[in-house]
Amino acid sequence: MLAAGGEMPELDCLFCRIVAGGVPAKTVYEDDQALAFEDINPQAPTHLLIIPKRHLPGLAEAAPADAPMVGYLQLLAARLARERRLEQGYRTVLNVGPHAGQSVFHLHLHLLGGRPMAWPPG
Ligand code: AMP
Ligand code: ZN
Repeated sequence: MLAAGGEMPELDCLFCRIVAGGVPAKTVYEDDQALAFEDINPQAPTHLLIIPKRHLPGLAEAAPADAPMVGYLQLLAARLARERRLEQGYRTVLNVGPHAGQSVFHLHLHLLGGRPMAWPPG
């Protein structure tokens, strides 16, 4: 199956496999560009992962042409937060590289909400 944008998905990428339907996920939103699903190990009452359908390892690999996609993921997070009535606040997070604990190398935006969150993050 071709990912949105016509590029081949990475066969060994977990999130490309979720996009292709080969690995199950609790999908909460989907369109031609993006997918949002429940994190398998939630760190807050709401913990969604919002990903581009097209494979990109992470923010560090994003090119200027990816700016609309990165912005789109953020605005999608705001929309999902509104729908979940997270009026008290929420956090969107991109973990980038080993010091940030990035463990899946397909760009994903975390949407966390439903509880107070400490600052600075650990
Ligand atoms: P990161 O540490 O920023 O790379 O985040 C990766 C996230 O993916 C973690 O929060 C994991 O709990 C989550 N995750 C790993 N495997 C799955 C899966 N099969 N379905 C949903 N979330 C997953
Ligand atoms: Zn991928």
